[in-house]
Amino acid sequence: MRRYGLLGGATILALACSGAVPTPPPAEPDRWRFLGAVTGAPAPPPNGPGAGEAGLVLGAPQRAQARTVADALAAYAKRLKGAEKRRIAAVKTWGLRRTPLRAPAPPADKPKLTSEPGHTTGKGLPPVIVQVPTDEKVVFLTIDDGAEKDPELLEMMRELDLPYTSFLSDYVARDDYDYFREAHRDGSAIQNHSINHREMPTLSYAEQREEICRQQDILEKEIGERPTLFRPPYGAYDRDTLRAAASCDVEAVPLWAEEAFPDRIDWGRGDHELHPGDIILTHFRGTDEWSGSMPDMIRRVLDTATSQGFALARLEDYV
Ligand SMILES: [Zn+2]
Repeated sequence: MRRYGLLGGATILALACSGAVPTPPPAEPDRWRFLGAVTGAPAPPPNGPGAGEAGLVLGAPQRAQARTVADALAAYAKRLKGAEKRRIAAVKTWGLRRTPLRAPAPPADKPKLTSEPGHTTGKGLPPVIVQVPTDEKVVFLTIDDGAEKDPELLEMMRELDLPYTSFLSDYVARDDYDYFREAHRDGSAIQNHSINHREMPTLSYAEQREEICRQQDILEKEIGERPTLFRPPYGAYDRDTLRAAASCDVEAVPLWAEEAFPDRIDWGRGDHELHPGDIILTHFRGTDEWSGSMPDMIRRVLDTATSQGFALARLEDYV
């Protein structure tokens, strides 16, 4: 049986993004799509007449369309400025040392995932990862189990506009799926962490399948979206776990590279540094289990990430 929490035989955790702020207008040629979306004007032909003319129809209507485009851009800039202002105010409210860095735009194509060396692989099995292959200075925050349902966490992540992913175990989440529906509405992804949080390799294939696949169905019903990721409790899995997960639409098995607590980070590597694409693990826990609150833990993660030049990005944009 495998039991991972550590890199190399590594351990990991991740957070996902809310997208409350509109995507900034991308550089050309994507700019056309943005303008088209705002004005309803058709996208310009790639090389045809009008290309290089902001995609506007020539003649009198051009001035009207130009105004529409200018108005739309101005409104967009205003919204963006408003959102940024709120985010900067939230940095003070939540006592962060520095403003969190913004993640770059998600990759156009998701990177190809392969299992971390030393982990089980096989045809048709989901890759087991602790880190996403990327050169961007992004890390992913993932929060497990679902016992503590602190409203301040939702508020903080919403106001700071931060992405994270929740991996839920039904036995602790089920008394208040409303909480996680709210997180999901805010843009947080909800993924699978089994029904009863059992150590998978101690179970038969059929029992593992029940633990994983029935939680797929429960989360799809409760949240309205079927998970694509499964994290085995304790990071413990065997080949049956991966087979069972693959049988009910699980596409990847993210473990973690670091684990975050309110008062410290447990590092997966000796250099005590975040690396591009690292998945960070933490838990929904309260002050009865931790020497701090959920916001204390988030402050620890953000201050660490920002001081090392990393932004939180949305795991599902990459995996
Ligand atoms: Zn867990």
